[in-house]
Amino acid sequence: MTKRNEAPAAATRCVWGGEDAYLLQGATQVPVVHSVSFGYEDVDEWQAVALGEAPGHIYGRNTNPTVEAFEEKVRLLEDAEAATSASTGMGIISSTLFALLAPGRRVVSVKDTYGGTNVIFQEFLPRFNVDVALCDTTDHEQIETEIAKGCDLLYLESPTNPTTKVMDLARLAQAGRKAGAVVVVDNTFATPINQNPLALGADLVLHSATKFLGGHADALGGVICGRTALIKKIYHYREINGATLHPMAAYLLLRGMKTLSIRIERQNANAMTVASFLERHEKVARVFYPGLESHPDHETAKKQMRGFGGMLSFMLADDSYDAVKKFVPRLKFAHAAANLGAVETIVGPPATTSHVECTPEERAAMGIPESLIRYSTGIEDADDLIADLDQALTAI
Ligand SMILES: *Cc1c(COP(=O)(O)O)cnc(C)c1O
Repeated sequence: MTKRNEAPAAATRCVWGGEDAYLLQGATQVPVVHSVSFGYEDVDEWQAVALGEAPGHIYGRNTNPTVEAFEEKVRLLEDAEAATSASTGMGIISSTLFALLAPGRRVVSVKDTYGGTNVIFQEFLPRFNVDVALCDTTDHEQIETEIAKGCDLLYLESPTNPTTKVMDLARLAQAGRKAGAVVVVDNTFATPINQNPLALGADLVLHSATKFLGGHADALGGVICGRTALIKKIYHYREINGATLHPMAAYLLLRGMKTLSIRIERQNANAMTVASFLERHEKVARVFYPGLESHPDHETAKKQMRGFGGMLSFMLADDSYDAVKKFVPRLKFAHAAANLGAVETIVGPPATTSHVECTPEERAAMGIPESLIRYSTGIEDADDLIADLDQALTAI
C-alpha cells in the first residue's frame, strides 16, 4: 500500500486492505486460486519455501493466496502483527485452545461464551486434564480472583450471545497479563469496526467470519489476529488438524468485507432504532442492547466500543415458548434461522440457535429466558423492520 496513506481509515482498509500483493496481471479483484499444490522449477527454492525460509505456497492445506489475502484484510482492520484463518469460527477457536494449552494448564473464562466454545470448555478440555474455571460473565471481581489463582489463558467474549453482556476488556486483559496469561477475545459480535480488543490489551482477537465479516450468510470461516509468535503456534496446529479455509469461501468473505464498514454503520443504527422501539412496546418485557441506557453494562460499552453492534435480544411479556412459536413465523423481514450478522435480519430463540446444546434448566441457570428472541439486525429500512415487528407483536 505504498502509494496510499500510511494508515487509511477502517472504511478504506475494508475496501483496499491486503489486496495489492494478490492482484494478478492487472486484475482489480483477488483471484480464487483453486490449485491444491504449487510447483517449483528450482528444487532449492522449493525447499526454502517448504522450510518457511522464503515466501510462497506449497500445499493448499497449509497456505493459499486467496486465503492469505483474506487474512491480510482482517489483520489490517484489527491492526495486528499477524493473522491466520480456519474453515469456521469453531475451527479457529478449537485450534487456538488446543495449540496454546496442555495438560495441567488452566483456563479462566465466563459462562456466556458461544455455545460451541462452551462445549470445548466443559467437555473436551477436561478430558486432556486442562482445568477450566467459568465465572459469572459480568462479575469482574470473581474473574479477577480466578485469574489470580493461576491462569495460562484468559478467554473473553464481548458483547455476549444472546443477552449482549459486556465485559470491561481493558480491566480484565490487564489482570490476565499480570498473571502471565494469553488473553483471547472473541470479537464476532462487535466486529473490528466497533471494537479492537488488541488496542484494549488483549493478545489475540478472533472472529467467526461466517457472521458480520462475510455478512452475506454464504460462506463459513474463522480468523485470529495477534503477535507473530502466537499466530505461528496456532497456524502450526491448524495446518495439521486440517481445518483449512477454502479458497472459494475466502473469496466470498473477502468480497463481503469490502462493505463491512457501511454495513456495520447501518446495522448499528438499525439495532439502536429497533431496540428503542421494542423497549417501549407493551408486548415486550425486556430488551438487551448495549446501546440502551437501561443496559446494565452501557457505560462499559460506551468506553470500549465505537458502535454498539447489530445484535440485540428481547423477552416477550408472555414469557413462554408458545408465544415465541407464534411470534417468530409472523415476521416478514426476518429469516428464522441459526445465523447472525447478515444483510438480512435474522431471528431465532436461543433454544434453537446459540444454546441448542443446553437443557431448559441449563438455559435458565445461564439467565436465558425461554421467551428470549435473538434479533440480528440487517441493513433493511428501519421503519420497515419496526412495522414488521409491531404487526407480529400485536398478533400474539
Ligand atoms: C457463530 C459464532 C462462533 C462460531 O463460528 P462458526 O463459524 O459457526 O464455527 C463463535 N463465536 C461467536 C460469538 C459466534 O457467533
